[in-house]
Amino acid sequence: MAHPARQDIASAVGAVDAAMRRAERRAGRPPGATRLIAVSKTRSAVEIAAVRAAGIADFGENYLGDALPKIAALEARDITWHFIGSIQSNKTRDIARLFHWVHTVDRARVARRLDAAAERVLDVCIQVNIDDEPQKGGTSAEGARELLALVDELPNLRPRGLMVIPRNAGAEAARQSFRRLARLFEELAPAGGASWDTLSMGMSADYEAAIEEGATMVRIGTAVFGPRPPRERAAGAGQA
Ligand SMILES: *Cc1c(COP(=O)(O)O)cnc(C)c1O
Repeated sequence: MAHPARQDIASAVGAVDAAMRRAERRAGRPPGATRLIAVSKTRSAVEIAAVRAAGIADFGENYLGDALPKIAALEARDITWHFIGSIQSNKTRDIARLFHWVHTVDRARVARRLDAAAERVLDVCIQVNIDDEPQKGGTSAEGARELLALVDELPNLRPRGLMVIPRNAGAEAARQSFRRLARLFEELAPAGGASWDTLSMGMSADYEAAIEEGATMVRIGTAVFGPRPPRERAAGAGQA
């Protein structure tokens, strides 16, 4: 499959950026209140470099094995790497060492293992299963409170906020989930302390609603890179 041209990527980044600023303005939020995380799962290092050249410095990856060669290849590019996939406990060591942010901390065992492996402070979000969907990653709202208390105690983890993947039922349903997550974020703010500043919510289909509901980070793949190739044929797959 052909790589999208560098110009196409730059214009896609420009379009998403403009839509983000418009959503901030509609919500009465300051321009730049929301940061774009380009979700680069299944994308090659060449494609990532093109997005980096367009001015985006934050990238999100879901699969450790796919991410490793890309992180190595792009070492000189000054990229902040965000882990946004579900976490197997036997992968916590490499995740803690190679990523700067982990958005998907959803249980005590994973938090403890990330803390033990980290060689520097790791910024973390607690993933909340706000719609209580079975088989979905994330903790309950009550679980988030308990997990935050633990993360607060762990010296190498810095609690930054909450992350959500809402149920797949359209932008209006997603908006309700974003609103509930934003409310939980406010409720937990006293416990989160000075570093508590991040609401990681919104993807290509619903990021404008997420920004209107208070997102500070949106995780966008398709709208930046174009339609995603199937994972098994993607560059980097097979090295997992
Ligand atoms: C793939 C993915 C995204 C980006 O999805 P798009 O619809 O391509 O923007 C965001 N967040 C998570 C957790 C993902 O797995």
